[in-house]
Amino acid sequence: MSVAAALTHHDVGHWIAGRRDNGGAGRSQPIYNPATGAVARQVHLGGEREVAAAVAAADEAFPAWAATPPIRRARVLNKFLELMNRHKDSLAATITAEHGKVFSDAQGEVMRGIDIIEFACGAPQLLKGDFTDQVSTGIDNWTLRQPLGVVAGVTPFNFPCMVPCWMFPVALACGNTFVLKPSPLDPSLSLMMAELLREAGLPDGVFNVVQGDKVAVEALMAHPLVKALSFVGSTPIAHSLYQLGAQQGKRVQALGGAKNHLVVMPDANLDQAVDALIGAGYGSAGERCMAISVAVLVGDVADAVVKQLAARARALKVGNGTQSEVEMGPVISRAAKDRIETYIALGVEEGAKLVVDGRGFSVAGHEQGFFTGATLFDHVKPSMRIYQEEIFGPVLACVRVPDFAAAVQLVNEHEYGNGVACYTSDGNVAREFARRIEVGMVGINVPIPVPMAWHGFGGWKRSLFGDMHAYGEEGVRFYTKQKSVMQRWPASVAKGAEFAMPTAK
Ligand code: NAD
Repeated sequence: MSVAAALTHHDVGHWIAGRRDNGGAGRSQPIYNPATGAVARQVHLGGEREVAAAVAAADEAFPAWAATPPIRRARVLNKFLELMNRHKDSLAATITAEHGKVFSDAQGEVMRGIDIIEFACGAPQLLKGDFTDQVSTGIDNWTLRQPLGVVAGVTPFNFPCMVPCWMFPVALACGNTFVLKPSPLDPSLSLMMAELLREAGLPDGVFNVVQGDKVAVEALMAHPLVKALSFVGSTPIAHSLYQLGAQQGKRVQALGGAKNHLVVMPDANLDQAVDALIGAGYGSAGERCMAISVAVLVGDVADAVVKQLAARARALKVGNGTQSEVEMGPVISRAAKDRIETYIALGVEEGAKLVVDGRGFSVAGHEQGFFTGATLFDHVKPSMRIYQEEIFGPVLACVRVPDFAAAVQLVNEHEYGNGVACYTSDGNVAREFARRIEVGMVGINVPIPVPMAWHGFGGWKRSLFGDMHAYGEEGVRFYTKQKSVMQRWPASVAKGAEFAMPTAK
């Protein structure tokens, strides 16, 4: 089946050993078009059987793939890169159809995924290891990085192309074989990429997909041949998988939720700051782990900023993401819409000032779509749940603070530490902010500082459990284990048995 035809296929199944596998008569769930609320197709939900088959295929493929010279692995990825570029618009259209984000945003997501594939094509440089000649007379020592084996990735609904691409291109470049468990809410991208990997010449079994929910994740975690898990999703699940991984001796990097702040200093260019807050707060309906959900308004800027934000939030063009003039699409599901609107009611109860209310929003011709409008709160306090908890929707909370020190303290005391931004025109303020802030990814006059492919992505505190960030050199480290080899050839130095700790001689 071609990539273009993938969407017309009725059911979304698994991809095991280079073939589609529709999982027999197991469990399934509907996939919706969030803009219309209509059921588009079904996704099969895998369990132990599918996980066992996918891991067996990956395990069988591992020795040959691990032994393939890195440059030849990179050439397969290079061909995959070319195919992803060729099909980027049909990939983006599928994202819009299943996730709801506007098409230009979906195109951006695909490009950021492609960036990582491009990075992975250069992995031979990062796998080359270190060598020391003559650590002792006649002895050399070198290190090499070897793949782990079968590794798994579990990904969230909000970036069905980009987040899997944070994982598998780097894992494959390093010589591992992979089992992806995507979100069941928008699973088609996983199969489209599987088709393209096969077309690029990836051997069967090197990349596999098991669709499903927590049942499939539990089976992956319980499988002794799965050596590592990369997880991206909400914090409670990230934390529990990290703990389980530690118990079972599996390497786990688990990226969790977020509550990202954007600090507006009194010396900031306010028009730029408002643009940033509107784009980063409401883009992708706030369903980005790097979305800005808190505006920290410092000193006397608050009244002016809130006034502009309110006007802009009310004027936001909300609708079907396939229409080019639309700025914000629907949220992913009816359950997400209900959760977000429950939080808005809670904010009112907690005493925050509801400046713009997105509840009850409807788009003409799309009355069953999962839409909620842009919501803006002012006078939000750190004690409120709408400040503390991740809402993951188009809800922006304004917190007023007296000065820079209070802004830094507010951000640092939040349990999440994924992304943060500071808008200022003072270089020293910017520098101090970047140094003092307890957050993994920092933007200075940049609202969504998602690092480029070679820098690595990761938050701090309860936004990431594990030692390594995703992709970049940290990704290469995560997907490989270091081996140190020390060699001496019999003729180089002749000596008898030694009983003391060896030292350089
Ligand atoms: P989620 O945690 O509900 O699901 C993530 C993945 O885990 C999915 O594949 C899902 O099927 C699986 N899953 C669900 N319940 C599970 C369970 N009990 N045990 C094991 N696996 C389970 O997240 P979501 O709603 O798909 O995505 C939104 C969340 O992801 C937000 O919290 C967002 O901040 C976070 N996110 C974080 C980053 C990051 O880089 N830190 C990036 C994107 C999304």
